[in-house]
Amino acid sequence: METKSSQGLSVKKSEDFSKWFSEIIEKSDIVDLRLDIKGFMVFCPWGATILERIFRLFSDELERKGHKQTFMPTVIPEENLKKESSHIAGFTPEVFWLKEINKEKLALRPTSETLYTPMFKLWVRSHRDIPLKLYQRGSVFRLDTKATRPLIRTREILWIEAHDAFATKAQAEAQVQEDIQITEEIMHKKLGIPFLPMKRPSWDKFAGAEYTIGSDVMMPDGKLIQQPSTHLMGQKFSKAFNATFKNEKGKEEFLWTTAYGPAMSRILASVIAMHGDDKGLVLPSSVSPVSIVIVPILRKENKELVIKEANKIKEKIQELGLKVELDISEKSPGEKFHIWELRGVPIRLEIGENELKAKELTLSLRTSDKKEKIKISELKKLHTIIDKYDQDLVKKADNSLKGKILDAKNKKEVLEILDKGCIARVNFCSTDEQGAKCAGIVEKEMNAEVRGTMANKKESASGNCLICGKKASEIIYIGRSY
Ligand SMILES: [Zn+2]
Repeated sequence: METKSSQGLSVKKSEDFSKWFSEIIEKSDIVDLRLDIKGFMVFCPWGATILERIFRLFSDELERKGHKQTFMPTVIPEENLKKESSHIAGFTPEVFWLKEINKEKLALRPTSETLYTPMFKLWVRSHRDIPLKLYQRGSVFRLDTKATRPLIRTREILWIEAHDAFATKAQAEAQVQEDIQITEEIMHKKLGIPFLPMKRPSWDKFAGAEYTIGSDVMMPDGKLIQQPSTHLMGQKFSKAFNATFKNEKGKEEFLWTTAYGPAMSRILASVIAMHGDDKGLVLPSSVSPVSIVIVPILRKENKELVIKEANKIKEKIQELGLKVELDISEKSPGEKFHIWELRGVPIRLEIGENELKAKELTLSLRTSDKKEKIKISELKKLHTIIDKYDQDLVKKADNSLKGKILDAKNKKEVLEILDKGCIARVNFCSTDEQGAKCAGIVEKEMNAEVRGTMANKKESASGNCLICGKKASEIIYIGRSY
């Protein structure tokens, strides 16, 4: 396969993050952008395998938490899409409409509330049928009007969407909290990406939701990117579709629904941005297609013997349940080192004549320049080594966020904080509609957004709104974003 991976990165991450990102996604075989369809991407096998592993992390966790898989149509009839008025009002500019067939207009789904709710109406008859927790994996399509950006802002979004139905508001709200826990389990603990769960201001919630909690992740340039968001839909969609259930007393009530949506390519963008370095990707073992690569150091006279021994070691490592690859391609060891580093494989093992004699292998971690030795009889230790490698990635990422949230008292301080690539924490009048005007001023004068209030901790304001000077009712966070 002829890709761009033979060349190294031409720019340092710390010097020009944006350029580094554009280069790394192609050179490390994540995507190939040469097909050039604005907002759509080709994923190479390496990138697609990482995506698949992220998909699985989320679907496994959702299933552990009682969700069942479904597949819904890629198209939505106009009639369904228009049922809930604030939903269609919010999504109209972004809808890809298809050609009218027999007077029926179909849209490529931008999200699937208007497919799931009519099915809830059919599938839920009584309180015994709920909670009903469903999910699907697939693509949604949004004609984003802003500039598109590979992995980050695209028109086809590869994602998982979970849609759940409950009997009470309290149960639905508990689901929203569980969704934040799922984000914590996968994004933070498995992928090493810390995030801020932000309850969005009412002007920035999902179209049709009562409220939205988005997870904000900071990129190395200080800009925020929204990762999985969860929404309390309340009874808006169930009322629009007349989706009811019989409660324990036999009375018809409307369902309470929620939705949760992790977008795979965006999460991949955060993994790349958070951990990658000047040599290439650095992947957590949970999503790396290969955890260990074995590179044989060959000479003409020992080639057969070394490859034979390397194969035995590969089998032993496979028996340990680890993902391993033996690179016996025609490239030189140096070229092989370069490519596997660029692709972010956690561990490299070298085996040559010296190693065979000493019955040990030379081991390098992707995150260190030091070489160590590991005895062939002690390969079990690889489990511990990988665990520590993953934990170190999480620790390093957590540290990178330290000191990045700073209190500000006035506009000047907010601007200084933003210009340093940090997030400002300020007193604000309101995240209800009456605060929208002040948020507009933040956007216009500071080129930044009110991201919301902290969703997992109660913070009380004391003082006045930094924009209008009225008594503040909330502590909010201001940041710049993608
Ligand atoms: Zn204000």
